Amino acid sequence: MIANVLVMIRKRSRTVIGAALLGCCFMAPQAAPAADCPGNPNALGTSRTIVVDPREHPRIGTMQYPETLPLADHEVVLTFDDGPLPKYSNQVLAILASQCVKATFFTIGSQARFNPEGVRKLIAAGHTVGTHSQNHPLTMNKMPLEKVRQEVDDGIASTLAALNGDKSKLAPFFRIPGLMRAEIPEAYLASQGIQVWSADFPADDWRHISPQRVYDLAIQRIEAKHKGILLLHDIQPRTVAALPRILNTLRERGYRIVHVVPATADRPATPTQPQQWFMHPPTETVATTRWPRIPNFVFTATRTLPAAVFADLDWRDADILDHAQRARVGVPVRTLWPQPQVAQLAPVSTLPIPAADVFRVPEALDLTLLAANRRLTQRAAGPAAGAPRAQAISARQARHPKQAAHQIPAAAHGGGHGAPLHVAPPGASNAAVHVAKRSPRAEASAAGKRVPD
Ligand SMILES: [Zn+2]
Repeated sequence: MIANVLVMIRKRSRTVIGAALLGCCFMAPQAAPAADCPGNPNALGTSRTIVVDPREHPRIGTMQYPETLPLADHEVVLTFDDGPLPKYSNQVLAILASQCVKATFFTIGSQARFNPEGVRKLIAAGHTVGTHSQNHPLTMNKMPLEKVRQEVDDGIASTLAALNGDKSKLAPFFRIPGLMRAEIPEAYLASQGIQVWSADFPADDWRHISPQRVYDLAIQRIEAKHKGILLLHDIQPRTVAALPRILNTLRERGYRIVHVVPATADRPATPTQPQQWFMHPPTETVATTRWPRIPNFVFTATRTLPAAVFADLDWRDADILDHAQRARVGVPVRTLWPQPQVAQLAPVSTLPIPAADVFRVPEALDLTLLAANRRLTQRAAGPAAGAPRAQAISARQARHPKQAAHQIPAAAHGGGHGAPLHVAPPGASNAAVHVAKRSPRAEASAAGKRVPD
């Protein structure tokens, strides 16, 4: 019962998705539906054809790249590599024809040279033909540009030769041999407008495994992703053996086959949205990003709010003040900053040059200071050692003439701290006595002369 409900939900969701896709993809040429498949009313058929522009999406296939074909749920694209090889390629063509499904073939140039008729059969059956290098080297990831260019160009030339040079029949699609991707081949192919096709799931049909194993892997991997590009080979017997069952199972499980063709001047690309090129596009509930790219969110609405104006950034906005008052967090104090009208201070006038008599010390005060200084000097030296100490001081001054020279000019103009303590004004006898006690060396030092030791 639950299973039946789930099936109904799944079918209903597919109907909705299908209806949505019809809206965006009706421009693409439609392939023959399964009901139109002659001789097989239950054929899988080709549900639709999409037109892709290699220059808009240069690399596809989630095995190696972020993007893949813009497929809906339960849509599969079939691809076959390494042909054409008559023995198996013809059988693959017959199986596909019996189900009326279209695929994409990536031919090897050397195979096309040996079997040009096989290339023409692919085109005649309505399939898309891309290329797969000239010699299928598994070292394209290590090749210099010149070798890459040779492999790519020769493979295209060989396949084109089988088509009489008709470029309109050859798709600018390329699959790197062994999926040995690298920046050099990818860059070269992009510069040529060629789309690199990886895949979304292989079936390991190039390995020594049974057809049953190929079938199991193909179905399991398709079911794991529900849509994508299936990588097969049309040169392997196990592929030929597994392919009918693969197609039948896909039909039974509701899968649909999509045919891919390149855009041309008169065949525009199928309109798509960027998110359709992702296997699991971002949803409304899951925000994803691939750093450092800009996050690719799906927004619920496209209408944007008006851009903020400078006035909105003013913190003194009345609403903010009102909010602050209600929240009792204090109202911001209004300030002039950053207003340009800053209060200017009154111009400061220059003070007058002091007159000479400003520094003149009254005589009575000067004598008092000199007397106090003499008492202090005598107290520090002591009565007995007074004379020797004065001599020591004089000697020290002689050894530092600069210090003495500094003191004399300072005293000469009456400025400097303590100058009046050493020099008395003219006519002061006490000061003269004090100076007279200096030694000749100190006198010379006081006069700014250097005295030899
Ligand atoms: Zn290959």
